[in-house]
Amino acid sequence: PLHSPVTPHLPVKLRPEILALPAYRQGQAAPTGFKLSSNENPYDPLPGVLEAVDAATRQLHRYPNAAAPEITGRLAAEWGVEPDEVIVAAGSVALLMQFTLAAAGHGDEVVYSWRSFEVYPWMTVLPGATKVPVPNTPDHRHDLVAMAAAVTERTRLVLVCSPNNPTSSVVTAEEFEAFMAKVPTDVLVILDEAYAEFVTDPAAVNGRRLVRRYPNLVILRTFSKAYGLAGLRIGYGIGSPAILAAARTTIVPLSLTDHAQLAAIASLDRGDELRHRVAEISSRRDAVYDALLEQGWASIPRPHGNFLWYPTGPKTEEALEVFRRHGIVARAYLPDGIRLTIGEAESVQNVLDASEEIARLLA
Ligand code: PMP
Repeated sequence: PLHSPVTPHLPVKLRPEILALPAYRQGQAAPTGFKLSSNENPYDPLPGVLEAVDAATRQLHRYPNAAAPEITGRLAAEWGVEPDEVIVAAGSVALLMQFTLAAAGHGDEVVYSWRSFEVYPWMTVLPGATKVPVPNTPDHRHDLVAMAAAVTERTRLVLVCSPNNPTSSVVTAEEFEAFMAKVPTDVLVILDEAYAEFVTDPAAVNGRRLVRRYPNLVILRTFSKAYGLAGLRIGYGIGSPAILAAARTTIVPLSLTDHAQLAAIASLDRGDELRHRVAEISSRRDAVYDALLEQGWASIPRPHGNFLWYPTGPKTEEALEVFRRHGIVARAYLPDGIRLTIGEAESVQNVLDASEEIARLLA
């Protein structure tokens, strides 16, 4: 039997659950105007990064050093852990897939909040595991009480995303600790903190303060967002050596390039400049949010990442078109809303003008 409605003339037998999956959808490019659809960093790479990449390019005929000893050691020192408590891969998406493959197969369950990062349901289906999405609260936050309650005998992985993509909400440290107390210690929990550097709320959970607190917790971070290395693909995890060792076995071999490793090291060398840039984006985010509140936008949850969530519901496509007319490419999540990245200073007025028009549209 043919299983896929989109591939009626399938020449070979493929897995029906894979055929039913939509392909990973990337934020739209912007031929003109501001591309605020992929939560990217508006800055050029940090000083020293291009030189580091250049050095790696001269070794392109060689395979990369898959063990990544330098960046691993560097991150271990930054986090105050041993190198075997650090795992590095070609983006945190790669790590998410590696941990899912290591933890969950047919008949196993993966619990995550919804809406959250679109990769979670997708990567759950790949190894044949079962999706257990838990609805966000009405104010677009993780419902950690319901998520803990959704854990069963079959649960092998629970994903917590803070700040949550796409709603930009955080879980508090208190909520997270109460949640961890309820989840059995033999169930892997991943705290995906791709946007952690932008968080300024002291009550928010912070993986930095959770290192070695829970043997079943892995903290994920990335160089794609605050560090602006999205194009190079490098992310990392911090957790117990035995869990990380299992995840290392499920890697696509040699997928982490020397370019990415060297660029990450060069970026870590520029911590002061990084913090300056991140502070600028965070304060721009807060200024935009305050202006939106003035426009009457009470429905937008307070943002903690480098992006905002507009719950535009059934008017999402119309609202997206308003952004487009104002030279802004945003990202729609039908039928719920729009995610908009905080970009360059020059984009702010366009964002506010478009938002005002959208507020009228929804009124
Ligand atoms: N986690 C979350 C929550 C994200 O939003 C993203 C990027 N969209 C990632 C992980 C993946 O980041 P990368 O693979 O570029 O490290």
